[in-house]
Amino acid sequence: MRTPLVMGNWKLNGTKESVKALVNALTTPANEAAPKAEVAVCAPAVFIGMVEDLAKDSKLQWGSEDCDIHTSGAYTGENSPVMLKEFGCTYAIVGHSERRDYHKESSEYVAQKYKAAQDNGLIPVLCVGESEAEFDAGKTMDVVREELKAVIDLCGIESFKNAVIAYEPIWAIGTGKTATPEIAQNVHKDIRDFLASFNAEVADGVRILYGGSCNAKTAPELFSQKDIDGGLVGGASLKADDFSAIIKAAVDNA
Ligand code: PEP
Repeated sequence: MRTPLVMGNWKLNGTKESVKALVNALTTPANEAAPKAEVAVCAPAVFIGMVEDLAKDSKLQWGSEDCDIHTSGAYTGENSPVMLKEFGCTYAIVGHSERRDYHKESSEYVAQKYKAAQDNGLIPVLCVGESEAEFDAGKTMDVVREELKAVIDLCGIESFKNAVIAYEPIWAIGTGKTATPEIAQNVHKDIRDFLASFNAEVADGVRILYGGSCNAKTAPELFSQKDIDGGLVGGASLKADDFSAIIKAAVDNA
C-alpha cells in the first residue's frame, strides 16, 4: 500500500509574506489529509527556516529543491544536506530538469546528490523525464532508464526503499500541457517494470509522482491511475486553493 504524496515545488518564487500566508493556509489541509495522503512543500533554501517555524506543529512536511553533494566546505552558494536536515527537511528534490538543463547536471552527478541526501537522512525525490523531441522520437523510456540506472549503479536498487521518483515530462512542465492520464500511467508502469527487473518488492513499494502542469482539474484523473502515487506540483502549488484541491484529489484516490 503506497500512501499518496502531494509535493509543491515553489522554484524561485515567494516573499516572506506569501510564504507565511501559504504555509498557514496549507497546514490545515495537510492535517486533514493525513494519514490518507502526505503533503509537502519544497521551498527556496532561504525560506526553509521560516517554513519550519510555521509548519513544525502540523502534518505538513517540507524539503529543499536541490542539495549539494558535500556536507560542508568551500562550496560557495551550495546547500548541504546536513544543514537541510537540521532545518527539519524531510525531502530533497534532486535532478529536476531545470537543474539538469540550466546547471548542466549529468545523471551521474544527480546520483551523487541522491546519495548525499540519503546518507544524511533526507529522502531524495529523483526527477526523471524526457524532452519534447525525445517524446516525439519515442525515446521516453531510453531517457528515463538512463536517469534511473545512474542511481542504481551508484546507490543500488535497495536505495529506492527510501526515495521518491517524480516522472516529469519536460514538455509538460510550466507549459499547461499536462500529460494525459494514459501517457503518464504508461510511463509510470514502465518505470515500475524497469525497477522490478532489479527487485520486484522495491518496485512495488516506491512512490512515483507525476509532475508537469498538474492542476486542480487534471489531478483527479491522473491520481486515479494505478501507478501514479501523487504529484510534484510547480505553478499550482503557489496558490493555496489550487494546491488544496490537488491534495483533495490525492485523498479521494487514496
Ligand atoms: C515542476 O517544475 O516540478 C513542475 C511540475 O512544474 P509545473 O507544475 O508548473 O508544470
